[in-house]
Amino acid sequence: MRNNFSPEQWADPKIKPAATAVRRCVHCGFCTATCPTYVVLGDERDGPRGRIQFMQKMLEEGGTPSDEAVHHIDRCLSCLNCRTTCPSSVDYARLVDKSRAYIEEHYHRPLGDRFMRWLIATVFPYPTRTKLALLLAPLGRIAAFFIPMGRLETMLKKASPPRGPERLAIPERPLKRIALLPGCVQKAVMPEIDAAASRVLARRGIELVPLPGAGCCGALSHHLGREEESRQFAKTLITAWEDGRYDGIFISATGCGGYLKELSHVFPGDPVWQPRAEKFAAAMVDFLELVPTASVTPPQALRVAYHPPCSLQNMLKLNGRGEALLADAGFLVTPFGESHICCGSAGSYSILQPELSQRLRARKLGHIEAANPDVIVSGNIGCIQQLSGGVPVLHIAQLLDWAEGGPKPAALVLPHARH
Ligand code: SF4
Ligand code: SF4
Repeated sequence: MRNNFSPEQWADPKIKPAATAVRRCVHCGFCTATCPTYVVLGDERDGPRGRIQFMQKMLEEGGTPSDEAVHHIDRCLSCLNCRTTCPSSVDYARLVDKSRAYIEEHYHRPLGDRFMRWLIATVFPYPTRTKLALLLAPLGRIAAFFIPMGRLETMLKKASPPRGPERLAIPERPLKRIALLPGCVQKAVMPEIDAAASRVLARRGIELVPLPGAGCCGALSHHLGREEESRQFAKTLITAWEDGRYDGIFISATGCGGYLKELSHVFPGDPVWQPRAEKFAAAMVDFLELVPTASVTPPQALRVAYHPPCSLQNMLKLNGRGEALLADAGFLVTPFGESHICCGSAGSYSILQPELSQRLRARKLGHIEAANPDVIVSGNIGCIQQLSGGVPVLHIAQLLDWAEGGPKPAALVLPHARH
């Protein structure tokens, strides 16, 4: 479509991908019905087409973004359903990423908002700080009883106690060594996921080797528009990986895996880091790719609702693999409505947009519970935490591990044991 980006902007590798997305959009609106925020709010400005218009105006004209533009762009989950459904191949990710960075640089947010964003960016990417924060959370919850804390209260309510490290399994005769990225939040709150994944993979001769020096993938900072910070995290990861010899790179959270699959876009026009990021991304491999089939008989043939994370559907493009793997493993996969719609977790979204996030959670759980599953399974720590609280929720590696003779996950309450 018509655009007013200047020749200088088109020549800038940091703006060009966003400008290309704008130019490709023909405003057909095919993407609208698949946008979770549009589905819930019914407002064109909270759908992809409306947001594209806000972002185009903001980036073309420069200056301070309007409150209205920031409000509607902030409500985007970055689920990328719109990218998958777009017939014109609009790469919405490049546009919203650039817009978030632009807002971060040019918009003065209210104090409370700035504090929350600073807190998320300063605590969550670091497992030790996350653990400390989780240990202090009960005190915060008591304080929140007396003093209204707004979104900080949401954060405190979501906090679960930190866990100690878990031992990774080692295959008797390793055929492959895969570098394991420890992640940040998951390492602090659900280390049992990597332990379960390591057992499943060890049975197939694959050893997970924690990557020395690796930290957070940088996705959290990236989605907050903190471009330079996310580049630093990426550089640390890439350098750590290049220093060793591995047959691939693995992270058990698809939110991080999906982001890392597109890592080269974090370094637009950088002649050194972009190609290094491309190689790194090419070595990334998801759990579902490492474990193609598993014909076993589980201790109990449970009814499983498989919730495919948006990152798995729209970034890793592994649609249908999780369901197939679970069916092969002897579970009854129960379909449910709107499985393509985001659960409202979306990284820090559940903290920054609690009301909308909760509406999406309730909608998702309504569909899932209508299918009457014994357990919900997903592949991303964010989704697992978001959907927890009723029907047990596990990572697919945990359920598969149990089916193959591993320990029963603590969160798995079997149907006969429920009240
Ligand atoms: S489907 Fe693609 S071209 Fe159509 S409005 Fe959405 S982003 Fe634009
Ligand atoms: S990324 Fe998701 S929430 Fe954002 S506009 Fe696209 S479909 Fe809607």
